[in-house]
Amino acid sequence: MFSSSLRFVQFSTKVDSCLFTFVKLRNIRLTTAAGRLSSVCDLRRRHHQHLSLRFNHTMSSLQEFRMADYDIIGFDLDGTLLRYNLSNMVPLVYELLVKYLVEERSYPRELLQKQFNRDFIQKGLIVDTERGNLLKLSEDGKILKAAHGTRSLQESEIEAVYGKARIWSIAKEYIDDPLSAWNGPVSEKLRSLLDYFDIAASLVFGHAVDTIDELSEKNENPLEKNNYEIWPDLLSGLIKIYTRENFANRESPYFEALKNEPEKYLVKTDNKVLDLLRELKSSGKALYLLTGSNIDFANLTASYALGADWKKLFNVVVSFGKKPGFFYMQRQFLQVKNLTEVEGSELSLEDALATNGSCYSQGNWQQLKTSLSKNVVGKEDNETRCLYVGDNLIQDVYTPFTKASMDTIALSEELLENDNNYEYKNIVHSTKWDSYFSINGAPTLWSKNMEKYSRLCVSSMDVIAAVPVTDKILCANSQGFYTTVCNDL
Ligand SMILES: [Mg+2]
Repeated sequence: MFSSSLRFVQFSTKVDSCLFTFVKLRNIRLTTAAGRLSSVCDLRRRHHQHLSLRFNHTMSSLQEFRMADYDIIGFDLDGTLLRYNLSNMVPLVYELLVKYLVEERSYPRELLQKQFNRDFIQKGLIVDTERGNLLKLSEDGKILKAAHGTRSLQESEIEAVYGKARIWSIAKEYIDDPLSAWNGPVSEKLRSLLDYFDIAASLVFGHAVDTIDELSEKNENPLEKNNYEIWPDLLSGLIKIYTRENFANRESPYFEALKNEPEKYLVKTDNKVLDLLRELKSSGKALYLLTGSNIDFANLTASYALGADWKKLFNVVVSFGKKPGFFYMQRQFLQVKNLTEVEGSELSLEDALATNGSCYSQGNWQQLKTSLSKNVVGKEDNETRCLYVGDNLIQDVYTPFTKASMDTIALSEELLENDNNYEYKNIVHSTKWDSYFSINGAPTLWSKNMEKYSRLCVSSMDVIAAVPVTDKILCANSQGFYTTVCNDL
């Protein structure tokens, strides 16, 4: 039906017409809540009209996608260019958090006896911190599934708590403005667990709620908590294992585990992906790596997965990038030397960045874009076409799309949730929560977000690398999922 070099699919008419990660932990700041999107579809249309006006060359139609059409291409590191062995990494985070709660926050030892339950883990769950519940939402905020602790709630129980419409007003606020939950009042009531660094926290939270309930029934609750104030303690645990200072001072058992056994937790990146990066760079594209990790940890993981010369794959490496604010705030870049951010080395916002594989810390998108446009692409920065590739749907997809007017590719290993050959199916697949993408034909919040804010959604970089950069990628479904899609959608 189609030539072998032309992968087919089309974007929907709708598109035509749409933890708390450790990055957040390190990103202690007050954000200005982003303006609400009155209509994402309008925004998308405006965005592409804007691009069409800006670029006087053939703007590929929305039915097509080609890497070669972009001038500046950015990549996230963790979960994007670097994959984790989820069968080892997710249980490690679970164990460390449980240990932290018991040993450093005096949680009852009964918590240690709970078994790690792979089927309970799923990306994208929403924590209702006050009620001790975990929720799975539809695109409009309707609660599709819920659990109190780890116990699934019946339909009638969901309606008794959240009302007949099954809408939690806080979740609705979050959907209207996802950046509001990064900090501020909504973040105290609601947390979304969006990547592999924090998904284990959902099970720890569920088990802690179960333990409190069980002991309270026996009037033995030693926590003396009359509600489920677990999240602040879990947050402290996440800060301990992921905060950047704890890499160098060896205070994080997570970083220590990865230093000691990188082969157990990290996956070496396929050579085809490295070849793709080299090809893009040698063809005159500007490439940058933007990671929330500090440079010392990024160097450990990137050296293992991408090779010792990993920095040479990019024009600029930005560590501790503080996404999502990186894309819309005006933070200064700092120099990096000997795998350390140099104190007091802030560049002025007008300075050009060196673009020969240089490393910087923090910074902002506008300055990076200007430097790459002038030094590498040779165009004015309002003429360059930009793409960002990442796995976190708020930091890497929603924010660059809505705040920096660039196209995105969303990576989601969940596309393989039903693939028996996928090595981490046991973590990603969940009978408890059903498909990541839809339940009984109703798209979940996250699958809809991919459709709205990304040009393409793939399971990994390997899929992109399998297509020659000048070839068109076209999808065979209406949502932009390539090459696999949930049958239910
Ligand atoms: Mg990531």
